[in-house]
Amino acid sequence: MHGTLGGRAPALTVREAAGVAYLLRRSPRAHRVRLALDEQGNPVVTLPLHAPARLADAFVADRRDWVARHRERFALQRARYLARGPLGDGAILDVAGQPHRLELRVGHGRRRTTVVHDDGAGPAILVVLAPAERRSLAAILEAWFRREARAAVERRIAARAPQLGVAPAAVAIRDQRTRWGSASRAGRLSFSWRLVLAPPAVLDYVVVHELAHLAVFGHSPRFWALVRSVVPEADRARRWLREHARELHWSLD
Ligand SMILES: [Zn+2]
Repeated sequence: MHGTLGGRAPALTVREAAGVAYLLRRSPRAHRVRLALDEQGNPVVTLPLHAPARLADAFVADRRDWVARHRERFALQRARYLARGPLGDGAILDVAGQPHRLELRVGHGRRRTTVVHDDGAGPAILVVLAPAERRSLAAILEAWFRREARAAVERRIAARAPQLGVAPAAVAIRDQRTRWGSASRAGRLSFSWRLVLAPPAVLDYVVVHELAHLAVFGHSPRFWALVRSVVPEADRARRWLREHARELHWSLD
């Protein structure tokens, strides 16, 4: 045990390799070298506690193209997020993979705030605020997205569970930072509400993935064969989630 690490964030050092500046982080939980971009788009290498720093340098030097490609995507996504404008009337939000215009109205005399998905005059999410509403717009939208997510997930489960010959014991909607869905051995499935922001084929894939775990635990070749037998486009959906995870998490910021 390393007493000095107790609960504190690990120290970061700035290094450079092959012209790429990056952050080096050491983690007692890391068993191998990992490279990712942080929330600001900086490359971060995570090393096991006692691995030499030159290992991280070599890792970054080998992956200069990866870093360049991912930073470019990060910059594009960030620019798109900033162009959306602050969360409020007229902001653009991706829902079901399509840009929707957010419209705010004040519902005079209303007791409850309502949110309606109204694509009548172009894709829009209409929020009619009760005058006594005290929640933030982000909180109102998140509550609504959670309900929408539950309905969408349950519709996909109704369609897909019979195809896989399984039945979940319970379904929960959550907001897990690092996973889109999970399945317990007791048959309980959980899904991130943010999946309603993604294209419907992506939500469908995650539902099939978790349902398939009720038949095959773990990610064996047999598991993937089962998933692909139902969703041949599974790899495309997985790639979409890897590439757009950040945008789904920024959605209501
Ligand atoms: Zn899985």
